[in-house]
Amino acid sequence: MVKKEITSSVKLKKELEEAKAELASRNKKLKLSVKTEPKKKVEAKKKAVAKKKEAKRKAEAKKKEAKKKAEEAKKKEEEAKQKEEEAKKKEEEAKRTYEEELEEQLTEDEIKNFAIDKTDMDKLVNRVTEMIASYTTNGILQNILWRKLKLSSRDGSRLALKLEKLGNITREKILENGRWTYLLLIKKIPISTISIENAPCLVCPVEGKCSTDGEISPKTCVYIEDWVLTELKTKKRHETN
Ligand code: SF4
Repeated sequence: MVKKEITSSVKLKKELEEAKAELASRNKKLKLSVKTEPKKKVEAKKKAVAKKKEAKRKAEAKKKEAKKKAEEAKKKEEEAKQKEEEAKKKEEEAKRTYEEELEEQLTEDEIKNFAIDKTDMDKLVNRVTEMIASYTTNGILQNILWRKLKLSSRDGSRLALKLEKLGNITREKILENGRWTYLLLIKKIPISTISIENAPCLVCPVEGKCSTDGEISPKTCVYIEDWVLTELKTKKRHETN
């Protein structure tokens, strides 16, 4: 009877130890599982962040590459445009102007005697010369002047040649907006009688009694005053036309 109890006690002890060991093993596994769970999550998070960063880096690199390509394309386009403009410029520079051809075709007399139908050429020459003189040393482009005077470029070119042959102006050949034209510069203002042909003194009945210090004097003359004002108005009207 005693022996049986002892056997039972040993068995119980063994079972108890086994149960303890089992419990300890489970606890260990549980702890391990608790420990590894957040580590996995952190790893996954790290991977996601790294993936996101990589994607962002790739997107930025792609964007940069596209921008670089666009800039290169633009640069090439600009270079092609510049080359085209240079080629055009060279082509234009090689061209002879209409005036150069005229100078070859016409004699000096033909140029000097150039006249426009139903036009007082002396008046026109004086007027154009005075207009060019008003631009002083800056000069004026011939096409602008012909537009102001409502002259065709054919007549204008011949008139410019005439003015140059008469010694009133000089012409400077320049490239303007890729085309040859001429800058007209004053050389000599012709003495014109037009400015005095309406002067009141020429028909004044008291001209003989008129003197700068006398009772009748240009200083106080109303005719002179009216004439000067009229001349100034006429000149201004011509300049604006
Ligand atoms: S200034 Fe007068 S007054 Fe004298 S001559 Fe001339 S128009 Fe006659």
